[in-house]
Amino acid sequence: MSTTHHPPDNLRRLDALRALLAEHGLDAALLHTLPSRRYYCGFTGDSGFLLVTATDAALYTDGRYTTQAADEVPPAVAVIRADVFAAGARRLAEMKIPRLGYEEDTLPIARFRELEDALASTALVAARELIMAPRLIKDAGEQELIREAVDIAEAAYAEVLPLVKPGVGERDIAVELEYHMRRLGAEDRAFDIIVASGSRGALPHGIAGARPLSPGDAVTIDFGARRHGYHSDQTCTVFLGEPSAEQERVYRAVYAAQQAGIAAARPGMAAAALDAVVRDHLAAAGLTAEFSHGTGHGVGLEIHEPPSISGRGDTILAAGMVFTIEPGCYFPHRWGVRLEDMVILEAGGGRRLTTLDKRLETAVLPD
Ligand code: ZN
Ligand code: ZN
Repeated sequence: MSTTHHPPDNLRRLDALRALLAEHGLDAALLHTLPSRRYYCGFTGDSGFLLVTATDAALYTDGRYTTQAADEVPPAVAVIRADVFAAGARRLAEMKIPRLGYEEDTLPIARFRELEDALASTALVAARELIMAPRLIKDAGEQELIREAVDIAEAAYAEVLPLVKPGVGERDIAVELEYHMRRLGAEDRAFDIIVASGSRGALPHGIAGARPLSPGDAVTIDFGARRHGYHSDQTCTVFLGEPSAEQERVYRAVYAAQQAGIAAARPGMAAAALDAVVRDHLAAAGLTAEFSHGTGHGVGLEIHEPPSISGRGDTILAAGMVFTIEPGCYFPHRWGVRLEDMVILEAGGGRRLTTLDKRLETAVLPD
């Protein structure tokens, strides 16, 4: 793997956040999640919070992390050693911030109450969407890391594919994939690898179990790697032996719907409209109830992040966004198929980041 990464421009990102805060009438933002801290100041430790005001930024973290924080964060961000939350809240109270944005979707209620008690004169404003907004557009360095995560996962898949045969357990395949991804430079798997064979393939999120593969199975393998914080995500479905006529028809419909989605993606399009392209394609093949989840999701520092490509996705897609297109059809207690690629949106449309060939002709393995 190449090691010449573009260093993240944390200060430019902080300025982008400050512009959004000003636009929304907020005086500061409290960032408590690891991806937010990492994105805006480079700190990779798993404890602490980042306070961003119009003029400065400070990372509050405890004694275990002060050396690491000093190494990782740019000098413009102060590192404050604190008994994190209580001391941080006291400091915030002294600052008398009128309107403070926070990440409402994940701040524990107990923490929120502590903040409310400590900050009597501060309005706490839900600001997750605003804090997240700059992260939706991946810069060159982020795109490079995502590509590396894809490369690692695909190389691991190539190593493990010969194992996908009758008698081998689902879990064995998942463990081998994880081993090869780590050996190839992944810091971790991107999520619990899904290997769902036969009737278990009808479970969209059936993580790998003890079931050994059998001749005739359809096997759904959903896997990805994490590289310097960035994730990849891809799903293949393979058949052990010739698929039935029904399996062939459904697989081709899912593939066609997926390709139609990739071809239709455009900057300026609502995420829900892209979901509709894929859904309508499957509906035209008589597959409506069988496609029981959204079309895709953003991928970056989190494996699932905005934009959500679903019927309720109100994000307007823009160049630089990275997301999945992953239609599937599930037949309870019988079998299932899902095909997933990652796409980066460019001015002219979507470009696949994942490269594994998913045509039916390549999905039939010997039984
Ligand atoms: Zn996936
Ligand atoms: Zn996915």
